[in-house]
Amino acid sequence: MQSFALYPFDPPGDTVALRTDLRAWLAANQPTDDVVARANCWASFDPDFSRALGAAGYVGMTLPAIYGGGDRHPLERYVVIEELLAAGAPVGAHWIADRQTGPLILRYGSEEQRQRYLPGIAKGELYACIGLSEPGAGSDLAAVRTSARETSEGWRINGQKIWTTGAHLSHVILALVRTEEGSERNAGLSQLLIDLDTPGVTIRPIIDMAGNHDFNEVFFDDVLVPHGALVGERGQGWKQVTAELGLERSGPERYLSSHALLVALIDAAGADPDPAVAGLIGELTAEMWTLRQLSMSTAAKLAAGEDPMVEASVVKELGNAFEQDMPRRVQAIVNFDWDDEDDLARLLRALLIASPSFSLRGGTREVIRGIIARGLGLR
Ligand SMILES: Cc1cc2nc3c(=O)[nH]c(=O)nc-3n(C[C@H](O)[C@H](O)[C@H](O)COP(=O)(O)OP(=O)(O)OC[C@H]3O[C@@H](n4cnc5c(N)ncnc54)[C@H](O)[C@@H]3O)c2cc1C
Repeated sequence: MQSFALYPFDPPGDTVALRTDLRAWLAANQPTDDVVARANCWASFDPDFSRALGAAGYVGMTLPAIYGGGDRHPLERYVVIEELLAAGAPVGAHWIADRQTGPLILRYGSEEQRQRYLPGIAKGELYACIGLSEPGAGSDLAAVRTSARETSEGWRINGQKIWTTGAHLSHVILALVRTEEGSERNAGLSQLLIDLDTPGVTIRPIIDMAGNHDFNEVFFDDVLVPHGALVGERGQGWKQVTAELGLERSGPERYLSSHALLVALIDAAGADPDPAVAGLIGELTAEMWTLRQLSMSTAAKLAAGEDPMVEASVVKELGNAFEQDMPRRVQAIVNFDWDDEDDLARLLRALLIASPSFSLRGGTREVIRGIIARGLGLR
């Protein structure tokens, strides 16, 4: 990549009507108005909400109808998730299954896996988690050591995953494992879909510094899963995972995590804002708009069946910088007391604590910059 490929964002159908219908649906079904919950929306688990959203046709939108999906275009889905995130809807329960596990099963999975998992995902009832990171294999994913050995009964899995968001509330983990004994780096890796209630799987909570339980350690102690748990081709796990990361890195969730703060700032500023506050609102809006264009063209490139790894990394890096800086920029300009209880202060408190993690999840800043540099031919 020498320049950012700007693909036109051109979804089929009437997207204005799609947005209007969804906004009306959200007005009738949004379970909470709490501003802090809204800011953390893609980590907020609410199975009732996910089920209702699925029944309304807003989950599994791009999956084929034969598997219970909506047969919609990926860019129609983009419009829907943008609306959901901007509204702060609690989409955490089905988020990972809808965003990446479902599409990955559709692309690489067997017919049996598609029939078994996709209808539940499309209903907003089946939740998945991402089994990539391990102690010693976070940024350096090719150092994965969790092993799966093929036996006559199936795959025997031993090892440990870490930082697994939502494992304690999910049904399945899509794990990157080493299936070829003696293999090194990114060769010999495969993906397995492991039901989390299989004997030998232990899930231990990791509580973050805000006191939340999102993360877990997942241990595999001689876990036996059927041969049919292999997703895609044996030994091709690296290729499949990098395709998955393209889906993970470029969506609107990479710049909208602090969106509720911008809305609260505008509300607090009132009709006659302080000029410095008005200036900041203008800057943040312009930056967000630019990020949105980059994210939408990356989505269009993905929808065209291409692999925009570098563009997705640019969106993630710039989006994370934006959503991470926003709380600090707002804190620098408004009268903020740590003990205040108004919406703006509560949001600032929550985001100042949470935002350092924004540039870690999905790949750290240094690693993402390395991918961009390679894409630009600089290393
Ligand atoms: C909110 C959140 C949710 C997450 N959810 C999941 C999940 O659901 N599933 C999952 O598998 N993982 C998840 N992760 C883990 C996340 O993907 C890893 O934390 C991340 O990839 C970094 O790995 P690490 O923590 O092992 O850090 P390390 O790899 O140990 O890195 C430590 C530091 O060294 C730097 N570094 C490492 N290698 C290089 C290099 N080659 N060049 C320059 N600098 C380098 C890193 O940038 C970082 O600053 C989540 C993390 C967060 C914060």
